[in-house]
Amino acid sequence: MMLHWILNPGLAINELILGQRVPKVTLIEKDSKKNLAEKCFIPCPHCDTIHSSLKWTPQNKTAFKNWFGLYCDNCGQTIPCLTNLTSYILLGLTLPLWIWFKKGWKQKWLLTQKEKFSKPLTLTTPEYNWVTQGLSWGFFMYVFTEILFPLIDSEKYNYYKLGFGLIYWSLAGLGFGYVMKKLLFRQTNKQSQDKTQQAT
Ligand SMILES: [Zn+2]
Repeated sequence: MMLHWILNPGLAINELILGQRVPKVTLIEKDSKKNLAEKCFIPCPHCDTIHSSLKWTPQNKTAFKNWFGLYCDNCGQTIPCLTNLTSYILLGLTLPLWIWFKKGWKQKWLLTQKEKFSKPLTLTTPEYNWVTQGLSWGFFMYVFTEILFPLIDSEKYNYYKLGFGLIYWSLAGLGFGYVMKKLLFRQTNKQSQDKTQQAT
């Protein structure tokens, strides 16, 4: 998953625009009864606090906008994250455009994080609707790759390609949503099945 995060160029969009980040270090508990999200812990290298990965979820409004890293609510510093290779190149090329603002942006961002994390966080596994999640991801990728990128390259739109892209990204989105569900919630299903079996 970490290697995929670095190598897949599409994920630069998740990283640079949505601010979705993957920490450099994740600890995974060896307990098969929990699902992956519950098993993952993220250590802060500054204060050695071991955080539940469930602190950074959509329900806590902390899954995105993590452009500067993951905020540690114990020491107020940021937990270092991986950088996608494409993001790295894009950031390098555009360095003269943003370097002047980085400090100010980070200060502002840190204040927002402090406020977000001052509220009680929900540490339960979020509900995951793979169809909606997958399709919205597919739609997002469609808009970027088929509509915005050709616009930037001043390429002419090809209606055949636009139509094909819609089908392609819907299917890719559904595939993505399904794989993510399987990957993240495999153990939960097993556990709930066990519970049902026990109950009957
Ligand atoms: Zn810390």
